[in-house]
This record gives sequence, structure tokens and C-alpha cells, in this order.
Amino acid sequence: DPSEAYALKTALTPIPDSKNYQRLKKDLRGLNLHTVCEEARCPNISDCWGGSDKSSATATIMLMGDTCTRGCRFCSVKTSRAPPPLDPHEPENTAEAISRWSLGYVVLTSVDRDDLADGGARHFAETVIKIKQKKPSMLVECLTGDYRGDLEMAALVARSGLDVYAHNVETVEELTPYVRDRRATFQQSISVLDAAKKAVPELITKTSLMLGLGETDEQLWDALRQLRAVNVDVVTFGQYMRPTKRHMAVHEYVTPDRFELWRQRALDMGFLYCASGPLVRSSYKAGEAFIENVLK
Ligand code: SF4
Ligand code: SF4
Repeated sequence: DPSEAYALKTALTPIPDSKNYQRLKKDLRGLNLHTVCEEARCPNISDCWGGSDKSSATATIMLMGDTCTRGCRFCSVKTSRAPPPLDPHEPENTAEAISRWSLGYVVLTSVDRDDLADGGARHFAETVIKIKQKKPSMLVECLTGDYRGDLEMAALVARSGLDVYAHNVETVEELTPYVRDRRATFQQSISVLDAAKKAVPELITKTSLMLGLGETDEQLWDALRQLRAVNVDVVTFGQYMRPTKRHMAVHEYVTPDRFELWRQRALDMGFLYCASGPLVRSSYKAGEAFIENVLK
């Protein structure tokens, strides 16, 4: 059973023990920051946190609470129409904590907040501005929602001074209605990525797709062509894993060779870089990839 093989691989992922990992873990506890890496028990934690070079080590921080206004069929985050209000001190406190932190690259992400007039865009932007004021050398990636297609909000976040603007299409266009919340459409996501790039053309834009949901090769080619047409720079592919029996089933476990094939195809299409593999998540070693492919 391939699902068992994956579970085994996850269980066998080495327990992080590098000095960098231990130092980071201690730092984060002291700073009272919550990482997706730990809370989702991400199997990549030793790769992302434990690298020998701390300037490229990456962690993902969740802003705006743990309750989402949407309900995608692949996601186990809890849902409510009226999540608790934002903490107005969060941008300042997060920036203060991150600026004292030993990492070089941070991914800020959040649940979707359709209950807020601006979808939380100003809260995101304020956090980035404050991080850059306190520690200009910190590289910042924001992995945001689609702001219900409000492109001014996408542009506002893009202009906040961040280095990478990420928004995940998650799957091919044809499967989007079955995979994502009905308020999310593939074309809306394409316009968000397009608006971010147009607002700040030197910005790196990035997206991520899960494979194994039943997508065909032709559908995947088409999704990649549409992403390149709006100059998306980076794409990542990972295996869809079913969080619980209530979530949509895995259609297929994609082999490592197929992941490598799609990585090559993405590079041939002009993507600047591509992380692709069964356990890859959109923030997988994002700092190292950025430094090796963009700064050098
Ligand atoms: Fe954290 Fe993302 Fe790396 Fe997982 S892939 S450890 S969530 S930065
Ligand atoms: Fe999960 Fe994001 Fe969908 Fe919310 S919008 S349910 S956090 S994938």
C-alpha cells in the first residue's frame, strides 16, 4: 500500500538534531512564535531548519489566527464564518520577535479571512514593513489568499517590501471546483499572481500545486502555461496527502521519477526554479532556493 510507504517515509524522516535546529527551537519558544512547521508536524523540518547555513534556513509563521472562513476539501484547518478579531499588536510583536531571530528567511502565511473588509491585506503588509524596518537583511515571503479577487489588496501586499509573493493555485483549473472552497477559482488566483507581478515587476512570484488529485498531464501542462503567461517565477509540486477520512481521497501516489520529470518540464518552460517531490510543501527550503537561484 503506497500510503503506508509514505507514512513510513515520514516516520523515518530524521529527527532534527543539528545545532541550528536546536537553537531555532529554543529561540522560537522564547519569542512565543508559532510555526506551521511544528504545528503541522511537517516532515521537512530538519531540511528547512537544520541546514548548516543559518542565513538560508527557513520557517513558516502563521498570522491572523488558526480559524479559516473557507473550507477547502484537502485542508484540515478549522473553519468558522466569524473567527476571532485580529490582534492589532501582532504585526509589531511578530516583527520584533523575528528581528531577533537567527534565521535568514521567513514565510508569513495565514488562513483566509473573508470576514475582514480587506481580507487581512493591511495586517500582512504592516508585518512585512515592520520586519524590514527592524531587520532589513531578513528575506520575507508572503503566502497569501486571493482576497476574493480584490487586486488592489494583492498589489498592496506586493508593495510592502517583501521578496517573494506566493499564492497557491493548489491544483489544475479543471479540478479546482472539487478541491478548493467554491469562492476560490483558478482564474481568480491567476489574476492575483498577475496583479502582484504588475505592481512590482522585480518581485519573485510563486505558486504551488499538489499532485495525485486525478489531474491529467494535459491539464497540468495547461496550468503551467497559464502560470508562465502571467510571469510566475517559481512553482513547487508535492504529493496530496489526505489529512483525515473526511477529506478528499488521494487519487494516486506519484512516483519520485514523475516528480523529477515535472520539475524538468517546469524548468524547460522558463520557471526560475522548481522544488518537486512527494514531501515538498510550498515553503520547502524556500530560503536556500531563493539564495541559490535569485541572489546568485
Ligand atoms: Fe516549515 Fe514549510 Fe519547511 Fe515544512 S516545508 S518545515 S512548513 S518551512
Ligand atoms: Fe485551508 Fe487555506 Fe482553504 Fe482555508 S483557504 S481551508 S487555510 S487551504
